[in-house]
Amino acid sequence: MLQVAERHALFIDNDTVEPVSGESLPVVDPSDGRVFAQIARAAAADVDRAVRAARRAYDGAGTEPAAGPWGRADASERGRVLRRWADLIDAHREALAAIESRDTGKPLTQARADAQALARYFEFYGGAADKLHGQTIPYRHGYTVLTLREPHGVTGHIIPWNYPMQIFGRSVGAALAAGNACVVKPAEDACLSLLRVAQLGAEAGLPAGALNVVTGLGGEAGQALAEHRGIDHISFTGSPDTGRRVAQAAAAHHCPVTLELGGKSPQLVFADADIEAALPVLVNAIVQNAGQTCSAGSRVLIEASVYHQVVGMLADRFNSLRAGPAHDDLDLGPLVSRRQQQRVWDFLSEAQAGGLDFAAQGVVVDDAPAEGFYQAPVLLADVPPTHRLAQEEIFGPVLAATRFENEAQAVALANGTPYGLVAGLWTRDGARQLRLARQLRAGQVFVNNYGAGGGVELPFGGIGRSGYGREKGFEALYAFTTLKTVALRHG
Ligand code: NAD
Repeated sequence: MLQVAERHALFIDNDTVEPVSGESLPVVDPSDGRVFAQIARAAAADVDRAVRAARRAYDGAGTEPAAGPWGRADASERGRVLRRWADLIDAHREALAAIESRDTGKPLTQARADAQALARYFEFYGGAADKLHGQTIPYRHGYTVLTLREPHGVTGHIIPWNYPMQIFGRSVGAALAAGNACVVKPAEDACLSLLRVAQLGAEAGLPAGALNVVTGLGGEAGQALAEHRGIDHISFTGSPDTGRRVAQAAAAHHCPVTLELGGKSPQLVFADADIEAALPVLVNAIVQNAGQTCSAGSRVLIEASVYHQVVGMLADRFNSLRAGPAHDDLDLGPLVSRRQQQRVWDFLSEAQAGGLDFAAQGVVVDDAPAEGFYQAPVLLADVPPTHRLAQEEIFGPVLAATRFENEAQAVALANGTPYGLVAGLWTRDGARQLRLARQLRAGQVFVNNYGAGGGVELPFGGIGRSGYGREKGFEALYAFTTLKTVALRHG
């Protein structure tokens, strides 16, 4: 079993720092329910210390703006630091995966993929850092007008527990590449990997204060970060309710926000689809990370003429899925916490009470510790589209199947939730592929494939209850800069 240090301090100014209160929070292993480490419990004073460290890295101590060691670093130098960091993450991939797997409960193979994605984010944004530039604009005679892409300054990053490394990579990688100094608040349920990743950042050459990690509770450290007037931009990934609170706190000091709030993403399977190709993708889209994925394909909408065939084939696969301890590396690990397990149980109790059809259910292996937070994957058939199970994000391994009669109904069902993050479309009809790609209300549409979690290069984000703003890809660099227009009259 992996050994990790018992107590983890905050990471500020490239150093380990104790919180002012001296208090800690327990870290629980979801596979057996046992406490195996402690993290520091930051409060407002610690967040303030981290923000001031970031400000020094960006602005320096004098009066000239952006004159700190990170604020004045050349774009090419920022890129080099990020690429060195990517190499260090690759070199430490196994250790990082082991930490992430134990902390979140995700199977080792999935944690390894997350570490690989983290390195890839830094490689991508490291390469992009010196390719981000403004434009010149044709204006009146005698003028030259240009735009400058400038960093916000100090950015705040509130990270959830489901993919700590990946979400850190996409958010902090882009922010640092664009020249910002960062303060990160990981989720209280999973922050160990990020504390280690931050140390590797210092080794890669990040100057003190360019990246700071404050662990603690959302309502304390997270809220203090969103409220802090020294923060110039906040990026948040998590639940819609908390996202609203963060946006309200940020609005009080006119701080721009990017919100990624999850979804109830549909996959549409038409009768002309390559069903054999679709099946493993449909299953993986809800089973990956035990369904605790913002872009999980949690609804499958199937054309009536193939409905029974597809549900039958999905049921065969679901019945063979196994959940067990993270280190056993099965199809699924446990859910992240007792609270998350209870949430999924509540949804499933409601499904049972409402007489929904449990078409298939995988197993939790016999030797899984009884105190772990396990949930076997469940396939629900014929879920009425207005039912809560077809409308709300469960964040567990529960797939809701619903049938449709024609294309118009398929689109209406797909668009019929308050969310709009990702949609998957399975059909061989080229005209329909293009038509529906336009009609589906989502930030990403995948045709004959599905990208839950992946796609470093692909802009990602939602509409409606799924949030706003875009992360990933080159687009994220724009979000982490502000545009200045300079108009010169020279005659
Ligand atoms: P959450 O939204 O409360 O937590 C996400 C992050 O926000 C964590 O770092 C948390 O510490 C922080 N936070 C909490 N309260 C805060 C506040 N008042 N101010 C600032 N930051 C705060 O999510 P949760 O409670 O861990 O999970 C609840 C549900 O949210 C899940 O069941 C799931 O449906 C959803 N969720 C979605 C995602 C996603 O990727 N979209 C991720 C995690 C959870």
